[in-house]
Amino acid sequence: MTRPLWAPWRLEYIGSADEHEGCFFCEALEGPDEEGLVVARGASAFVLLNKFPYSSGHLLVAPRRHTGDFSGLDDTEAVAIHRLASHGINALTATYAPEGFNLGWNLGRVAGAGVLEHVHLHVVPRWGGDTNFMPVLADVKVLPEHLAETRRRLAEAWAG
Ligand SMILES: [Zn+2]
Repeated sequence: MTRPLWAPWRLEYIGSADEHEGCFFCEALEGPDEEGLVVARGASAFVLLNKFPYSSGHLLVAPRRHTGDFSGLDDTEAVAIHRLASHGINALTATYAPEGFNLGWNLGRVAGAGVLEHVHLHVVPRWGGDTNFMPVLADVKVLPEHLAETRRRLAEAWAG
């Protein structure tokens, strides 16, 4: 029996992205870390917490440049994004000890992208059994830790 492809990031920004005028990523980049939930900043890419996470510590890694064109990322951006993703995995491992990770790109609305105009890589920490308590509906999720606290802990782990 085939199981359906599991894609938690399909839930991102649903319901709120359409009503939002600016770009979540560019706004996060311009403002203070605490406000935009930015965990780390690199020369050509940066990392922030997903405001609509699947699990605690759900990270988004995006180029600094505002672009929705995945294939248009240059080599520097492509490498920076993947290096930040692996650094994020290390910080998450040090902080929350997840048992696994899902990494993924959503390109196009039909693929679940909530923000089309600024590409980003999802890093989703996983724990055994986490799908058991995750409800199907995005709006009734219960997260064990506040986003601000998660951001602070990960930024600390990043520096360490
Ligand atoms: Zn942007």
